[in-house]
Amino acid sequence: MLGLMMGKPLLISSILQHGAEVYGEQEIVSRSVEGDLHRYSYSKAHQRAKRLANVLKKFGIERGDRMATLAWNGYRHFEIYYGVSGFGAVCHTINPRLHPSQIAYILNHAEDKYLFVDLTFMPLIEAVHEHLEALQGVVVLTDRAHMPESKIPGLHCYEDLLEASSEQFHWPEFDENSASSLCYTSGTTGNPKGVLYSHRSTLLHSMAIALPQAMNLSEKSVVLPVVPMFHVNAWGIPYATPFTGTKLVNPGPKLDGNSLWDLMEAEGVTASAGVPTIWLDLLRAMREQGRAPEKLKFVVIGGSAVPKSMVKAFEQGFGVEVRQGWGMTETSPVGTINVIKDSHLDLSDDERHDVQIKQGRKLFGVDLKIVDDDDAPLPHDGRTQGELKIRGPWVCSSYFKQDNADEHSDRAWKDGWFSTGDVATIDAEGYMQITDRVKDMIKSGGEWISSIDLENAATGHPEVAMAAVIGVSHEKWDERPLLLIVAKEGTSPDMASVRDYLSAQVAKWWLPDDIILVESLPLGATGKILKNRLREEYKDHLMIKD
Ligand code: AMP
Repeated sequence: MLGLMMGKPLLISSILQHGAEVYGEQEIVSRSVEGDLHRYSYSKAHQRAKRLANVLKKFGIERGDRMATLAWNGYRHFEIYYGVSGFGAVCHTINPRLHPSQIAYILNHAEDKYLFVDLTFMPLIEAVHEHLEALQGVVVLTDRAHMPESKIPGLHCYEDLLEASSEQFHWPEFDENSASSLCYTSGTTGNPKGVLYSHRSTLLHSMAIALPQAMNLSEKSVVLPVVPMFHVNAWGIPYATPFTGTKLVNPGPKLDGNSLWDLMEAEGVTASAGVPTIWLDLLRAMREQGRAPEKLKFVVIGGSAVPKSMVKAFEQGFGVEVRQGWGMTETSPVGTINVIKDSHLDLSDDERHDVQIKQGRKLFGVDLKIVDDDDAPLPHDGRTQGELKIRGPWVCSSYFKQDNADEHSDRAWKDGWFSTGDVATIDAEGYMQITDRVKDMIKSGGEWISSIDLENAATGHPEVAMAAVIGVSHEKWDERPLLLIVAKEGTSPDMASVRDYLSAQVAKWWLPDDIILVESLPLGATGKILKNRLREEYKDHLMIKD
């Protein structure tokens, strides 16, 4: 028997509509690319999102069409989140840190019809726009006075488009399972893969992250997401703020510790979120100032493991709580958050910090398990390690435009669970802790570097016989790539020439921090390089050098 309740779909437009109707005066403050501090209300943002929806109508956009963005955290990007998804099209955020060839691949794979771009990223798009097959136009996120000179034909000015549009628009109703946004993630091999979120998944995820046991958002909160809107929707924060009445502060392109400190102090920020690398510089700024920004209560840190020294520095130095989060592009992204229990308050500081460096407990809505090599579940005893699997309404069920027939997808989705590629323990209280990674990737400052792509690039060098790339610890970036090479017989490759050779093929920040010539690489029974052994041997290579 079915329940007798209304079937009103869970749509993203309803979030901002609610924000405008119930918390209409609440502010969104943004540091803009042009340099000023922009300030307006949810009700104004809602009106402008409606104007944008009318622009899409004039452009001839249809439901399901993809609209790309290359933009910082700012109010115009926020309007695109709502205007595009509310209209029924798909907001496709692109990571500007990727290599231009990957950006072009992604724009073509997604068949984006329009691209909304911040002034900062114009050179990027000028370099690739001739190769963009489906693109019909580029909209620069600025006003007439700041419009750049450009060779791109048919460039639009965002503010002009909005001004010429009506703010009368009725958000359409459609199936809540419709696609709402798209974000590509770097695969271990090959091209980036698209994760296609739905209105329903986005709403449920944002409700979960707003709860007290996660980000604790309400009218009393002021949130500054350092985590970018161009990667996994800034962990869902721009969706969770309007319906909770939270003041939203966007840092724009200025992500250094001093700029963040100033903005947090001036706007009364109570909570923030970002990757560990960002917080190192904020901690430096806090030391310089002699205190934390006055209202700052907690920071959510995720994307990479949080070192114990960081938990201590925030808490003991400045009275700021650290809440670690774990998740993936494929999981919207938040799967777990570490908020300590009252019973942990009785522990010594050191014992409590040991709990806080775990990745946390699952949010209501997702299930976690750890499994052995035969996929059999392992005990949650806090000691046994296994590959971490997750399922839930905001976990992706396949990649965009992939038929799941390849070997990787076969492994990734099995019996309704997604294999994360992370190795973890789960303790009796449900705290999950990442202990290793089975995916062959390096995470540097919160961004992925594919070791396999780097190895393939290196073995193209005429004097390199074998290459292995491993991630080794780095104080600032968490991990950096180290390249080990074996020379072809009778040659002695010059390290600078290998580096130059790689520079032509990969983004600058992918380049290994060091290249070491070795006699041989350790091989396993199947001929695979034993990366674990190399990781163990070289784990402190860059730390020692520093
Ligand atoms: P991405 O899809 O780029 O968001 O990366 C997701 C991956 O980042 C996860 O599968 C983990 O390997 C890693 N990750 C995310 N959060 C954490 C964390 N708190 N601690 C350790 N690794 C993390």
